Amino acid sequence: MKHFKTVSFPASTRKVHDITTCDFCGAVCEDDDHHNSEFDYVVIRRKSGYNYRGEDGHSSIHEVNMCPNCFDSKLVPWVIEQGVDFSKEEYDW
Ligand SMILES: [Zn+2]
Repeated sequence: MKHFKTVSFPASTRKVHDITTCDFCGAVCEDDDHHNSEFDYVVIRRKSGYNYRGEDGHSSIHEVNMCPNCFDSKLVPWVIEQGVDFSKEEYDW
């Protein structure tokens, strides 16, 4: 038979995601409550890395967060100026 006793565990703290701000203007572009509401944010990410014989490896992620306003007013004009056009897809579900 196993016997149990009650013990107290001290309170702990941990870091959890709260908000994401735009790296260009500082506006809040995503908060932790986005699961049941509208969403509209931009993440530009470069992921690179390698595997070494399937056991070890290395990867790195460079990331920039951007609000929709900065996307429309800064990134889109710059990309178009480079001769590249954006495509837009829309979905309903
Ligand atoms: Zn912004």
